[in-house]
Amino acid sequence: MTSTEKPRVRFAPSPTGFLHVGGARTALFNWLFAKHEGGTLLLRIEDTDVERNKPELVDGILVALRWLGIEWDEGPFFQSQRIEMYSAAAERILASGAGYACYCKPAAYTGGDAAEEREGEGDDEGKGTKAVACPCRDLTSEQRVAKEKEGIPAAIRFRTPRTGTTHFEDAVFGPRDVQNAEIEDFVLLRSSGLPTYQLSVVVDDIDMRITHVIRGADHLSNTPKQVLIYEALGAEPPIFAHVPLILGPDRTRLSKRHGATSVGSYAEEGFLPEAFRNFLALLGWSSGDDSEFMRTNELVERFALSGVSRTNAIFDRAKLEWFNTQYLQKPPVEELLPYVEMELKRAGLWKEAWATTDRAWFAHTVDLIRSRTRLLGDFIGWARAFFSDDFEYDPEARAKFWKDEKLPELMLKLTDALEGLPEWNHDACDAALRAVATSEGVKAGLLINATRVAIVGRAVAPPLFETMVVLGKDRVIARLRRALPAISAR
Ligand code: GLU
Repeated sequence: MTSTEKPRVRFAPSPTGFLHVGGARTALFNWLFAKHEGGTLLLRIEDTDVERNKPELVDGILVALRWLGIEWDEGPFFQSQRIEMYSAAAERILASGAGYACYCKPAAYTGGDAAEEREGEGDDEGKGTKAVACPCRDLTSEQRVAKEKEGIPAAIRFRTPRTGTTHFEDAVFGPRDVQNAEIEDFVLLRSSGLPTYQLSVVVDDIDMRITHVIRGADHLSNTPKQVLIYEALGAEPPIFAHVPLILGPDRTRLSKRHGATSVGSYAEEGFLPEAFRNFLALLGWSSGDDSEFMRTNELVERFALSGVSRTNAIFDRAKLEWFNTQYLQKPPVEELLPYVEMELKRAGLWKEAWATTDRAWFAHTVDLIRSRTRLLGDFIGWARAFFSDDFEYDPEARAKFWKDEKLPELMLKLTDALEGLPEWNHDACDAALRAVATSEGVKAGLLINATRVAIVGRAVAPPLFETMVVLGKDRVIARLRRALPAISAR
């Protein structure tokens, strides 16, 4: 890459599962890097492993990326549609002498990497051990001809040099040197004609002119093999940046044992995409100061590979929840409205007027509620009564705040007093309630709490008089009258 060229990066998920937290973080780092640098992000679906792929998962991955707000500039490309390119590259390597045909049966060869064996994504094989050579490496040409005659299907292996080291620079982990003697003669092309991950990833990264490979540190051990392939194909390797692993709170690799790992499940649960982005961005990256709450434009502005840490990141759900409350509460309320709208639609509570004539009411109501929300679901959960007359009284609130035996009579008087109000606003409601309390010789709190349960069904809700204004007079009176029999029945 010359200094005037803009970076090209890629996110390359294998559709073997849902988009999980680790994949999403890799995608986000690539996206932030591309945005920051004015570069290009490609999306590539690595679907050559027919046994493990589930094509039906591709759509879900795209949906999860879009939910996260990660837009790619090129793709999605599908490796399954590019198979000829990989076999052509393997043939070139074979012809150059940097590869050889391997006739071993999948199970027969136990050098750590049988010809048909799945090649390692996140593969640690051969690390620190002397690689066992494949017996096919040194076959004479007569022996090869004989094998061909027998019709034994051949794989193509890389002829890893026996001596020397393979070197690469990692933007995060620094310079790396691996003894070639520790790298086995890995498979490039299986005898089925399908490429291994090592081959297809390099062929594509060359063809797609990728300048920076930003991916999980579980791929560090694959990188020397890939560097060897670049060399054999006469191409300059890209800059590698391996990002640290994500661990659960018990410091083992993040997995289902630690709770939900798919991005989709966090969307379902009611996390906001921007909160999730901010949280993910800090899993292995820091801005250099203690900043945590950073809106996306700030993340883009500040993101640099130099801020990526080598230390494994810990997934802390409490932190994610903290981010969510920040994003529910801090940005201008208008930004939140589309999400609340979606949530209300999901629950069948949405009214079109809230998008048009009653937009101001909707914004005001969401604003009133949001300081007490943790998840989007709260808008249809405890705050349901703000949007629907169909809500239930929380049994605990009811038991606690409707138990005074004078309440049926008091609430009737309060309802009448409120109904007689010529104007319906915060102070008028406040004064009317306090007047009833004074004349009846009870504490205002008794009426406040009982009224709150009657009109929103909960003990914990926004301040009562603001709630009354937002709900409007007719609704409040109707709800109070509706509650009277229940208060009497207790
Ligand atoms: N398909 C690989 C994976 O899902 C990514 C490989 C890479 O980024 O080089 O782990």
